[in-house]
Amino acid sequence: MRHIVFLCAVILLPCSLALPLPLPLISRPALSRLEDLKFITAYLDRFFPVVDKVIKHTLEERIKAMQKFFHLKVTGKIDVETIEVMDQPRCGVPDVLEYSTFQGSPRWRKNLLTYRINNYTPDMSKDKVDRAIEKALQVWSDVTPLQFRKTTGPADIEILFASGAHGDYAAFDGRGGTLAHAFPPGSDIGGDAHFDEDETWSETNREINLFLVAAHEFGHSLGLGHSNVRGALMYPTYSYENPRNFYLPKDDRQGIQRLYGNFTRKSYFLMIN
Ligand SMILES: [Zn+2]
Ligand SMILES: [Zn+2]
Repeated sequence: MRHIVFLCAVILLPCSLALPLPLPLISRPALSRLEDLKFITAYLDRFFPVVDKVIKHTLEERIKAMQKFFHLKVTGKIDVETIEVMDQPRCGVPDVLEYSTFQGSPRWRKNLLTYRINNYTPDMSKDKVDRAIEKALQVWSDVTPLQFRKTTGPADIEILFASGAHGDYAAFDGRGGTLAHAFPPGSDIGGDAHFDEDETWSETNREINLFLVAAHEFGHSLGLGHSNVRGALMYPTYSYENPRNFYLPKDDRQGIQRLYGNFTRKSYFLMIN
């Protein structure tokens, strides 16, 4: 039952990805949020949910937990640094320490997974979207026995671009904020990855880089939750790095290999050497 409750929480609170952005992604100034208690509690409810309902957590304790996760000065008070992190574009999945898996550690019980791109963003050419998705999956197949095959039929991982409400009770929120979300391994919507069409997607450092966000979301599709290790791919906020120099950080590798076992393809060595 706990498992079901948690999955619902993930669906309601989609795993969105947030990395510090090269361009200001959020139009509203973070400073105006400093006294916005509604925004602050909504953020905490969404990303730092109170798991044990028996224990009463004060707002100060909850702010401290958030500050600790993001390596901020732990004061329990809302300051500029804290509100700026809260205002960053990010992934909708709640946050925990170091690499994590979903409750019950769901994972795929087969090594060959299929994926389907249901629709394409108009922001990039079809070829570029195909390449970004393929490369993002390769990040994970390089360090696990998993392999991915593109299909046009029913697939384990279905990928789509959508704006606002799109039929999974996890409506997107327009430009900025939540960029994408994905569901842990399972049937039907399990494993699927959704991208907010109100973002502008790119293969470069302009706006939001599709490869970087997709690689993060596929981590969720395969069973990883968030990590608070700075620089980890599964860190919940978005930051740009050149995809050409990308290799999977150690924390993420340890996490995924805990689920699927140790395995390293030649291409991974080529990337890191
Ligand atoms: Zn995420
Ligand atoms: Zn969705």
